[in-house]
Amino acid sequence: MRVVVTGGAGFLGSHLCDRLVSEGHDVICLDNFFTGSKQNIKHLLHNDNFELIRHDIIEPILLEVDQIYHFACPASPVHYQYNPVKTIKTSVMGTINMLGLAKRVKARVLLASTSEVYGDPKVHPQPESYWGNVNPIGERSCYDEGKRVAETLMMDYHRQSGVDIKIIRIFNTYGPRMAIHDGRVVSNFIVQALQNKNITIYGRGTQTRSFQYVDDLIEATYRMMQTDNFIGPVNIGNPDEFTILELAEQVIDLVGSSSKIIYKPLPKDDPAQRQPDISLARERLDWRPTIPLQEGLKKTIAYFDRLLSEKNNQTILI
Ligand code: NAD
Ligand code: UDP
Repeated sequence: MRVVVTGGAGFLGSHLCDRLVSEGHDVICLDNFFTGSKQNIKHLLHNDNFELIRHDIIEPILLEVDQIYHFACPASPVHYQYNPVKTIKTSVMGTINMLGLAKRVKARVLLASTSEVYGDPKVHPQPESYWGNVNPIGERSCYDEGKRVAETLMMDYHRQSGVDIKIIRIFNTYGPRMAIHDGRVVSNFIVQALQNKNITIYGRGTQTRSFQYVDDLIEATYRMMQTDNFIGPVNIGNPDEFTILELAEQVIDLVGSSSKIIYKPLPKDDPAQRQPDISLARERLDWRPTIPLQEGLKKTIAYFDRLLSEKNNQTILI
């Protein structure tokens, strides 16, 4: 297959490129390097079946491909709120461009949507049938509503033009190749703990998240793309739910850190709880996550430990 990965130099996209290259596909990675990095895909550049194109998906692009994994979009609140207008343009115009491409060359297109379409959920755990509780005018809206519009566009191109689509809703995913300055909770806590700096909990740390290790996500994504007669949306996440305080304690413990926990203000509209109902993924993809939090954290800690020592023990400020 000739395959495009938008956002292929990012955290998730680069792991997906690894998988696709190893499966023998011809892979084109499209990225504008807003949050992605050449480091994440450097090891792939010597492969004959891997190609990198610097491209902003807000602009159309013409390619001959069979499949499109559409992952381009900043995912950390710090980054998607840096330029919110650009974030929503990426979701809306970027998705229109990928759907236009899919329609023209009759490619299958898979959208990396998000659990954020459920907002601050009033139904727990969240099944795909839940329509969500999203603030349309808040600081997270550029991302949440952008992805909701992206899902709508996917469905409308499918209904109106017969485009072959897939939608996955990804729940909090972590692992190696998150950027040091990514700003999401797992990388923040690990980088802080490795440097014996204060661990910054926003709010009281009673809010919950369900953390999925990246390898589980990639397996589910790949399966979803190969499946016929199932467009989703389908939740992909690990249902094991933890409070943010529990996460902080576990990271401190695994690192053996002398970090202290400090409390900072809770950002606006921060969801209080989140846990995927993955019955549909189990049934339709024969998939379930296999990597528990502790095991995934150990791998991620090892990655950041190596990264920090490669940087000659520079102090990383987060
Ligand atoms: P990331 O920030 O590491 O990766 C995003 C990639 O997209 C980066 O390489 C960035 O440079 C690129 N990009 C951003 N805007 C672009 C544009 N206009 N044109 C071209 N490239 C652009 O984030 P990630 O965690 O790897 O997330 C990847 C995708 O998965 C995103 O669509 C995100 O919404 C989705 N997702 C991730 C999670 C998670 O927990 N990691 C959860 C839900 C959904
Ligand atoms: N969070 C935190 N400290 C940090 C970064 C994040 O306490 O240094 C909290 C954040 O307020 C949220 C949770 O951790 O309640 C998950 O945040 P993240 O940005 O990783 O993902 P999202 O909120 O988008 O699920």
